[in-house]
Formats: sequence, C-alpha cells, structure tokens
Amino acid sequence: MPRPTVAHIDLEALRHNYRLAQELAGSASAMAVIKADGYGHGIRAVARALADDVRCFAVACLEEALAVRDEGLEQTVVLLQGVHSEQDMVTCACLGFELVVHSDYQLDWVLNSTERVPVWVKVNSGMNRLGYRPSELPVVMGRLAEAGCVPKGFLTHFASADEFDSPATEGQTEAFRGGVAPWPELLLSVGNSAAHFRAGQPLFDWSRPGIMLYGASPMADRNATELGLKPVMTLESELIAVRTLQPGDSVGYGQTWTAERPVRMGIVAIGYGDGYPRHAGTDTPAWTNGNRIRLIGRVSMDMLAVDLTDAPSAQAGDKVELWGCHVPIDEVARHAGTIGYELLTGVTARVPRRYHD
Ligand SMILES: *Cc1c(COP(=O)(O)O)cnc(C)c1O
Repeated sequence: MPRPTVAHIDLEALRHNYRLAQELAGSASAMAVIKADGYGHGIRAVARALADDVRCFAVACLEEALAVRDEGLEQTVVLLQGVHSEQDMVTCACLGFELVVHSDYQLDWVLNSTERVPVWVKVNSGMNRLGYRPSELPVVMGRLAEAGCVPKGFLTHFASADEFDSPATEGQTEAFRGGVAPWPELLLSVGNSAAHFRAGQPLFDWSRPGIMLYGASPMADRNATELGLKPVMTLESELIAVRTLQPGDSVGYGQTWTAERPVRMGIVAIGYGDGYPRHAGTDTPAWTNGNRIRLIGRVSMDMLAVDLTDAPSAQAGDKVELWGCHVPIDEVARHAGTIGYELLTGVTARVPRRYHD
C-alpha cells in the first residue's frame, strides 16, 4: 500500500477557472501561466488538460517550455524571463518559443542571433524588478530596428494589482500605455490574475492569469469562492493514530501545545517534508469526516497533530483534507503567514499527484 498522502488534481476545475479568466479578459486573450511545475500541479498534466482551450502558455524558463513541447503540444510558449544563455536562442527558434527581453545582455543575444525568435520587450512600469523604463524604449526599439528585428509586443507586470484600493496599478497602466504609444502596431500584454478582477482594468491584447487557474484567490481580501474560482488541488492524507490526551499532556516538538482537558487527538501522515507549511500552527483548519478540525502543536516533517473534538467519530484510517474543497488554501496560507502560491508550489515530489478528469 502506498502512503495515503496525495494531491488530488481536478482538471475540470482547472478548465473552469481558465474559462472564467478568458471571460474576464474580455477582448484580450488569456495566456495560461503554468510555470513552477504548473504551480505545483504538474506542468505536463496541466498543459494537456488546457490544450483545447488555450492558444498560448507562459512559463518562466526554457526547461518548462520544453516540457510543454515534449507533451506534443504545439501552442505558443512565452518564456517570461527569456533565456539564460545565447545558445538557447537556437532551441527557442527551432521549437517556436517566444522570448521576453528584459536586459541589454539578452537584447545583444537577439541582435547577434541569426535565428528570428519572436520577442516581447519587457517594460518596467513600476515593479522595478525587470525590464526597460518607458524612457529607454526608443533606444531599445532603435537597436532592434537597425538589426531588422520587429518585436512581437510589449509586456509589463503589476506590483499591487491584488490590493483593491491601491492606485499603483492605474499608475503602472498609464506609464505602460504612454511608453509604448509610439508603436501602436505591436501587441500589448499586462495582467496577472488579480488584474482580471479589477473593474475597468484594461488588459490590452494578452492577459497572463496564473494563480486563479488553480483556484486560489489572487486578491488579498476576497476569497476564491466569491470570485467564482474552484480549487484544483485537494491535499489529502489519513489519520494514522488516534489517542486521548489527558490534561497536562502536550504534543509534538517543543511541547508548544498542552491539553487543558481530555482531548481526543489524531496524527495525520503529512508534514513539512510534503510541503505542508511548518509555520501553520495551532488552530490552522483541516477537515475530516464532514467536520472542520484544527491543528495543534508543531508540524513535523512527516506528520502533524489535530484536535478531533469536533469530529468525534474520526478514527485511524480516516481521510483528512489539509486544503481543497472544504478548507480554502488561502485560509491555511494566512495561518502560515504566507500566500496560496507558496503552498501550492511547495508541495514536494514525495506527494503523488492524482489526476481526475
Ligand atoms: C507569474 C507571472 C504571472 C501570473 O501571475 P499570477 O499572480 O499567478 O496570476 C503573470 N505575469 C508574469 C510576468 C509572471 O511572472
């Protein structure tokens, strides 16, 4: 018998979420962002499941793009960080990948290359991680034009689209719009998931939803259900031991939680070695037997403890949901002081992904 710890992946929910993204994108097309192993869901299975709906995938790096082609899929793939070496330009040209160019060293590779790889020029509209400032675009475009190279488009990324009342996104949108205005014939791409939920936010030609495809909320203060998203991953394990603690008994490393009354307690076969966050402490929700329960004490590498007071019929062998349909991942993330993105991408290779279609 394999260990009972699995990540169930609901591919129909994934498609539902993509269709919602496309609907919200309006006249823009939504490229599906499947970097970081499809946000932990398995890039190959995610790409295959979306293949009938999606015309363009976005990934961080070449290895991820190669996985898409290796699945026999022929969609456009955009490398959001471009390439990390000049030789990779050839691979990109052969396999039909599109590159983001965010720095001069990458621009040099494009200009020196005999291959004609479609490029997106990254514009720094205020995120200040990657890209050219709007004022630098004339020089960049001039160099490309001299080499007879016409980029496919411009792309920028928002820093605070998840904060409803922040004016930063509007500012970035206007800086972007103004910067690229001299080249109206080129395509424009903006918009992480959060931008899809901002009323009146222009998404131009191509939006780039990521986290929302997987059913986690991209907005700081709105949950996934109110946004119409369905969780794709259900992280599940089993109770492998049940015991009653007496007042004064504590559980787990550091003995950080101590029973004040008799408490029926369960041990679940999942821990930070599976990617369950160690920072999720006492009171983080889980679910078993139709009841919400809570973690107690510290998360160990291979197991964690739960209070079964609210699930009196629970016994060893019963399934426990750590996040998924009954326990929103964003709630677990809040308890762990992080975001759903980190939890999803952090599920380790030890946890088998089981796909449901
Ligand atoms: C990861 C990424 C996205 C997707 O962001 P989400 O918040 O997951 O929707 C979009 N654009 C770029 C450039 C990215 O790196």
